[in-house]
Amino acid sequence: MEQKKVELEKHYELAIVGCGPAGMAAAINAKIRNRHFVLLGQEFCSPKLAKAERVDNFIGFPEIKGEELRQRFLAHLKQMQIEIIPWKVASIYPGPPFMLSNNVDFIQADAVILATGVSAQRLFQGEAELLGKGVGYCATCDGPLYKDKTVAIIAYEKEAEDEANYMADIGAEVYYIPYYKDWGKLDSRIKVKQDRVRSINGADRVEELVLTKETLKVDGVFILRENIPAEQLVPGLEMENGVIKVNHNLETNIPGLFAAGDCTGQPYQLLKATGEGATAALIAIKYLDGIKNNA
Ligand SMILES: Cc1cc2nc3c(=O)[nH]c(=O)nc-3n(C[C@H](O)[C@H](O)[C@H](O)COP(=O)(O)OP(=O)(O)OC[C@H]3O[C@@H](n4cnc5c(N)ncnc54)[C@H](O)[C@@H]3O)c2cc1C
Repeated sequence: MEQKKVELEKHYELAIVGCGPAGMAAAINAKIRNRHFVLLGQEFCSPKLAKAERVDNFIGFPEIKGEELRQRFLAHLKQMQIEIIPWKVASIYPGPPFMLSNNVDFIQADAVILATGVSAQRLFQGEAELLGKGVGYCATCDGPLYKDKTVAIIAYEKEAEDEANYMADIGAEVYYIPYYKDWGKLDSRIKVKQDRVRSINGADRVEELVLTKETLKVDGVFILRENIPAEQLVPGLEMENGVIKVNHNLETNIPGLFAAGDCTGQPYQLLKATGEGATAALIAIKYLDGIKNNA
């Protein structure tokens, strides 16, 4: 997603990251409790819900299409004057207060609810091991390090084209491996590889990207997915079996950081996501009241 400059306040009591059913349910409870919060999401909230052809288990709405439910959720937010701010959160630094960045701006929040869903994509072989050693998730952030060097951009969404063009502009040699159709506005200096990634290799740093048909010698690999893995989003976040570890209060291992919905694990279902979202908001409010009373 191309990051836009949006008018945001510098500080909120609560930031809700993700505008799927879990994030929306959290926002509704935060609004009812009259809290100073922000709901941050991507352009389309949420692709998963829209893809559900027919939902049979959402109580009160038998045989409803996912898209219709999505429209109803959005209408509910609108009716409560809750705005979704299109802001892809790139990193969250634990506080207090938490600092959230989208690589263009920063905002602060006293508490944060992660409602980012789960990524369907698995990590590539070598990705976790070489993260920070040539593997990254934001080309524009690390760009200057790769002037006159060779990078590969593995792209899951069109918005990655802007990052690839930027890298070419600053003088990097760029390979582009699209995992979507119809890449369009790429600079002519960029070499597109219609191939699939087998592994990222290197002893201490990235040295090569192994594709099915060839091996590319590279200094850096940027993986631009719709979802940033939660443990990369928040340094020090404890995970369990690939999902965010929470207790019954939806608290993570970091005080003031809560998680709700698919990102906390199975079952991947709407009722669980909305229930957890609503609950996380109430528990976060208790936490906020606690820090206010102790101040
Ligand atoms: C085809 C299909 C059919 C389904 N059918 C059913 C069904 O019949 N019944 C049922 O109960 N469930 C069903 N589900 C599951 C249901 O859609 C999910 O459980 C639900 O959408 C989870 O909600 P969520 O809010 O946790 O995550 P999501 O809906 O995935 O929403 C997460 C949101 O967070 C945003 N986000 C992620 N990272 C960031 C970031 N860094 N910054 C800002 N925003 C971010 C994403 O863009 C997304 O909009 C189905 C799912 C699919 C794919």
